[in-house]
Amino acid sequence: MHLKWKAVWWINQVIEDKAGQPKPLIEVGVSPATVVGKRKTRLPITRVFTSALVIILALFIIISALSFIRLQDFRFILSDIVEKSVPNMAISHQIYSQVNSLTFMSERLANASSDATRRLASRQITDQLSQLRALAQEQNSDPHLLVQLQALSLEFSELNELIELRLKSEKALNQQQLALYQLYDQAIQLAGKTTESESSTQYSWTLYVSDLVALAGQANNMKRLHLIRQLAEQISVKLALLDTQIIRLKITDQDTARAISTNLRNILIGENGLIALQVERLQITGRATGRGNFVRNLIIDYAGLAEYQSFQINSSVINESQSTSEQVQKQVQLIGIASIVAITVIFAVTFFLHSRVVNRLNKLNQRVQYRLDGRDSPIHVGGNDEISDIGKTFDLFAKTVEEQNKILHDLSLSDGLTGIANRRALDERLLHEVKQSKRHKWPVSVLLIDVDFFKLYNDNYGHDQGDECLRHVAITLNEQMQRNGDFLARYGGEEFVCILPDTGTEGAEYVGQILLERIQDKNIVHEYSSVAPHVTVSIGIATLYPDSSDMSGPQVLLKLADNALYEAKKQGRNRLVSHSKDSGEQ
Ligand code: GH3
Ligand code: MG
Ligand code: MG
Repeated sequence: MHLKWKAVWWINQVIEDKAGQPKPLIEVGVSPATVVGKRKTRLPITRVFTSALVIILALFIIISALSFIRLQDFRFILSDIVEKSVPNMAISHQIYSQVNSLTFMSERLANASSDATRRLASRQITDQLSQLRALAQEQNSDPHLLVQLQALSLEFSELNELIELRLKSEKALNQQQLALYQLYDQAIQLAGKTTESESSTQYSWTLYVSDLVALAGQANNMKRLHLIRQLAEQISVKLALLDTQIIRLKITDQDTARAISTNLRNILIGENGLIALQVERLQITGRATGRGNFVRNLIIDYAGLAEYQSFQINSSVINESQSTSEQVQKQVQLIGIASIVAITVIFAVTFFLHSRVVNRLNKLNQRVQYRLDGRDSPIHVGGNDEISDIGKTFDLFAKTVEEQNKILHDLSLSDGLTGIANRRALDERLLHEVKQSKRHKWPVSVLLIDVDFFKLYNDNYGHDQGDECLRHVAITLNEQMQRNGDFLARYGGEEFVCILPDTGTEGAEYVGQILLERIQDKNIVHEYSSVAPHVTVSIGIATLYPDSSDMSGPQVLLKLADNALYEAKKQGRNRLVSHSKDSGEQ
């Protein structure tokens, strides 16, 4: 128990730090923060990982949002094209083709030769117009188109009325012509009824009638009003001549002749006569032609408007398609650039994490391995985070373990009672010094020191005081170790060994003498000693000279010193005896 307490005291002495502050044997629990020297800005790995994750997530969200917004835009544009522009294009095309057929139908109406044809064309036109109106409304097109359609509808109905009038007039004209031909037949029949004597005169009158019929025939083909009027004058003259010829030629059946002449007048120049009807027909035809041309122009205008609108719709579809295509291209570029940036950032983050975490962990592992291999390299990984904390903790732990190892080593080489080197340390040191002696060719001396009558001291003063005495002796002896290489160890019991490198017998005797004197000077009372009233020692000295042919080692040297000590005891104690191995002298 006692020895153990001493050992603890000594250990604590050894490990006291320079400032005099006792240092605990194990400091594993010390926070790394307390041992941080230079303060570096702390960048925890958790924050590094969180930031990296946030950056990558943010990039992912930005690219996804960009793509989503753009795709939505494209979807709206494309659905606009599909739902509005494309159907509008189809309607425009229908309108355009309907307008073309309307032109054709208006021609048919204008040139209708019978009432049935007119009615058919008119109905078709009405249908066509209502279809066009429906299409224009469906297309929600320019209001001008609807106004134009309204105007067209009115013009068509007026044209229809004119054509109806023309047909009526032509019908009346045909009836009058028929009546004319019947009258001409009457005139010829009248000539046929005459006697042979009268026949020449009758025929000449009938010739007048046929002239008039021929003139009426000319009127039928005339397109100019003034020519018809001139012709009417001629017919009037001829009719007057016809009346006078009835009397002059002494027509037998004058009544019939006059009736023919009167009817002829009525048919030709009467109020509803051929000439009047022809004039009316020309007037109506002129109006109908004008109206027809106007209607044609209106249709051309309408077609132009519809075409313009169709062109506008086409252009807008083309423009929308082009701009969509450009936007898609831009979007592809944008997403491409964003992807490159994202990949670069992810690479940078990965590289950063690798150098910040993985590399440093590898470095930490390597440094720990070096330290385990016994190399004196600090466990430093740089930075100020959890890894650097672990590095510092490892460093601290390694230092603690190393210090403990050193303490244990020192403990294994030191004597628990006196604190000086023990037998084991002595053996190591003596072996070393013997080798040094041989290498450097210098002598080495060993002093074996034994306390005289120590058994009696122990028996009379007690074991504890005996221990105290041994400690004083050790301290006193140790104080005399003046040179750098001088070494003192407890050999066992009350025996000590002093090694004096590069010291011959003479020097060893000089030191031995001093040791004898210092122990006496210490004046440790020993009433039971037969040599002196205080504690004394006897010393046996042995010296190994380098030029000695003897290859003996430390044990022989110790044995020689022991012999010399035995001699000293024998000679009366409190003295020294030396034995030189070289010479074999005492
Ligand atoms: P001599 O003069 O011939 O050397 O006689 P001595 O009595 O000194 O020699 P001896 O070998 O007979 O006695 C040595 C004594 O030293 C025996 C033992 O009681 C004592 N001793 C040995 N080690 C210790 C120790 O560690 N502490 C104490 N107190 N006594 C010790
Ligand atoms: Mg002894
Ligand atoms: Mg003794």
